[in-house]
Amino acid sequence: MLAVVYKGNGRVALEERPMPVIQNDKDAIIRVTLTTICSSDIHIKHGAVPRAVENTILGHEFVGEVIQTGNLVRRFKAGDRVAVNVETFCGECFYCKRGYVNNCTDPDGGWALGCRIDGGQAEYVRIPHADQGLTLIPEGVSDEQALFTGDILSTGYWGAELAEIKPADTVAVIGAGPTGLCTLMCAGLYGPSAVISIDVDDSRLELVRREGLADVTLNPGDTDVRQRILELTGGRGADAVLEAAGSQESFRMAWQIARPNAVVCVIAMYEQAQTLPLPDMYGKNLVFKTGGVDASHCEEIMRLIACGKLDTRCLITHRTSLDNAMEAYRIFEQKEDSVIKWAIKP
Ligand SMILES: [Zn+2]
Ligand SMILES: [Zn+2]
Repeated sequence: MLAVVYKGNGRVALEERPMPVIQNDKDAIIRVTLTTICSSDIHIKHGAVPRAVENTILGHEFVGEVIQTGNLVRRFKAGDRVAVNVETFCGECFYCKRGYVNNCTDPDGGWALGCRIDGGQAEYVRIPHADQGLTLIPEGVSDEQALFTGDILSTGYWGAELAEIKPADTVAVIGAGPTGLCTLMCAGLYGPSAVISIDVDDSRLELVRREGLADVTLNPGDTDVRQRILELTGGRGADAVLEAAGSQESFRMAWQIARPNAVVCVIAMYEQAQTLPLPDMYGKNLVFKTGGVDASHCEEIMRLIACGKLDTRCLITHRTSLDNAMEAYRIFEQKEDSVIKWAIKP
């Protein structure tokens, strides 16, 4: 079968690989029907993900059809359409029981797919702990609607929950890339009085306005963002800030635009260490929350997709087939052609 493989040293390649087989009674084999490239794949390519293993098939955001299940898989059967969770997790350990599935202590636990074990930028993939890591796609929900359930939409959903958004809050989301857009949508679920979207790319802000995902859009290239947010919030700053851009400037902006006692939620993945200038922040009494998604709410997300309250189809700007994946990577990495997300058909 055809697969996109991480080769180390800044390289990914399209290769022929053997079909995956069941290795454990809790595994399922999935025929991938739609897959995509995530910015985390680019971080792996750049060598910025220390845990990534060379010669692993990439891909941790995809949907497909169950074709085979191990003897202990109870919730799924051949023929089921499923969205696949970025995390494979046991459901039984200390962290899993508390919903912190990113830190599952199982050998295959946490973000393993497309990083430490073969992922879904391929025609077929083996999913360990299938009962935990799959979400049934209901009739009436298309592959394109469900594609981002397990990763970027989960990240937006988790970030919005972490940010403790309350009704009538002013929420600022830095970054209007794929994760930022999902975060804007999920912030909206909490009834904020204003959502502010910040990005340096006007075409992305245009998409935000066109889709009605924010009340205010700000470009730091032509606006003093901190000043503008102070004006919009009675001189206080944003009640909650979600940083989904991942640069030094966006990290600094995140705590600068937050009001005292706000929650600053850093959900971006950085390629470099960042500095917290604590003397400058003293007395602002911020709460920082950081990290990678605990994708433990996929059932709720799927219900919100099914009833139309979450709709990420506007993120799919490009479509192609798996044999064209290298060109898709190039365009995605260079951010050419206003690409937000690819939908890639194996
Ligand atoms: Zn990802
Ligand atoms: Zn676990």
